[in-house]
Amino acid sequence: MSEKVRVRFAPSPTGPLHMGGVRTALYNYLFAKHNGGDFLIRIEDTDQTRYVPGAEQYILDSLKWVGLTADEGPENPGDCGPYRQSERKDFYKKYAQQLIDSGWGYYAFDTPEELDEVRNRAKEMKMPNWQYNSITRSAMKNSLTLSEDEVKQRLANGDPYVVRLKAPRNEELRLHDLIRGWVVVNTSNIDDKVLFKGDGMPTYHLANVVDDHAMRITHVIRGEEWLPSAPTHVLLYRALGWEDSMPSFAHLPLILKPDGNGKLSKRDGDRLGFPVFPLEWTDPESGEVSSGYRQKGYFPEAFINMLAFLGWNPGTEKELYTIDELIADFTLERVGKAGAKFDADKTKWFNQQYLRAKSNQELAELVKPYLDKKGYSASQSFLETFCGLQKERATFIEEMVDESFYFEAPKELDSDTVAKKWKPDTAAIIEQLKVILLNIADFNEDHIEMEFKKFLDSNGYGFGKVMPGFRLLVTGKGMGPSMSAICALIGKDEVISRIESGLKKLR
Ligand code: GLU
Repeated sequence: MSEKVRVRFAPSPTGPLHMGGVRTALYNYLFAKHNGGDFLIRIEDTDQTRYVPGAEQYILDSLKWVGLTADEGPENPGDCGPYRQSERKDFYKKYAQQLIDSGWGYYAFDTPEELDEVRNRAKEMKMPNWQYNSITRSAMKNSLTLSEDEVKQRLANGDPYVVRLKAPRNEELRLHDLIRGWVVVNTSNIDDKVLFKGDGMPTYHLANVVDDHAMRITHVIRGEEWLPSAPTHVLLYRALGWEDSMPSFAHLPLILKPDGNGKLSKRDGDRLGFPVFPLEWTDPESGEVSSGYRQKGYFPEAFINMLAFLGWNPGTEKELYTIDELIADFTLERVGKAGAKFDADKTKWFNQQYLRAKSNQELAELVKPYLDKKGYSASQSFLETFCGLQKERATFIEEMVDESFYFEAPKELDSDTVAKKWKPDTAAIIEQLKVILLNIADFNEDHIEMEFKKFLDSNGYGFGKVMPGFRLLVTGKGMGPSMSAICALIGKDEVISRIESGLKKLR
């Protein structure tokens, strides 16, 4: 039997989670669940200089909001804990040592100033992309160039050092990516990455590989920006003797700006008129607030459905997917290589579809807080009917309460409609209609509809001669949902009183 699928989402808490990060988590989750496997969360917080307070909690809260529950993570550890790299610090040192002992790693003592100097000199000589690598290392200060005694002495003195990977020279390295196919790199193009720092902390590369191995990760599914690091990781698996259990790689396509010009970045968000973050985020330093999908009124299911289609498609026309349906249909074979353009209108469309699909009962619960804010209240059955009428016209719950006429008489009558539709004979016609309405014993939608039609027929009036004026007085507007339904909902007394006071205003 093949081993159990285990994947991880491994964010660094250097800021709020971008929607691209949520998509990476989602694809990991869907892949795990589709294959009956485990989805892990691991916090990669080894770079203390980039630590942002609140970011980890924000990431965990975001995943909770969209319902991506981890099988193992910092909040529900399994047998591979801890799930925060800063708490695994002691774990990495022995691997750094192992790499040095086996010749795959070496000490480097070059100071930041010395490195800058070399880089600048290279730039002056028109070689802008200087790298610490299989060629340049021989001219640097490291355990490959210094005498054994000097290295010992420096270490004993506590001189600052790092441990670097000794990338082999001029070898062909082939790596298979489940989305991109074979990627071939010459190892001379791989630089000698820093793996471990003198302060006792590993860098991303070492910690990431060591933990993927320790946590029995079978598939590494992450953003395309990590593809250039993958050859280094393959070398590390080889160097640590873990090549046989190396995970498979899948690098997800970029999410592009709506115009297709470049990657959608954290800075794009509100600038382009839509959130890039799942939840609202307040920068702890500047206090700047960035909007979030949740606070903008998006349903998590709609947000997830939209994200699922940013890079994946089922190959059919079907677009509305519950999470269980996504789990059933999701495969990496159907994830594309090309960048996926973000579409803010499509995101709204998804929300609208989810709003319409909700029952009136559920919507009634959801609108209550917004009605409270406006000081409106109504019975449950009133609210359910109200939601049934408003849901076809709204993308967000908040928009459903835009119309106040359901809850109070219109304060103003739309001047445009008055100018265009209120004719010299309209008042008299509405007076006639009022009598008809007053005589309807059981004031329900069907009866109102029937009596209204009868009224038109028996007087030879066209619909356009009566309806606009009638609607104007009752709702203050020129357009809206069915008038019979609105009247039945607000009740006969209210309708009559609005007609009377409207007529007075327009006299
Ligand atoms: N910590 C990396 C990040 O922030 C994880 C990359 C990976 O999945 O290997 O995206």
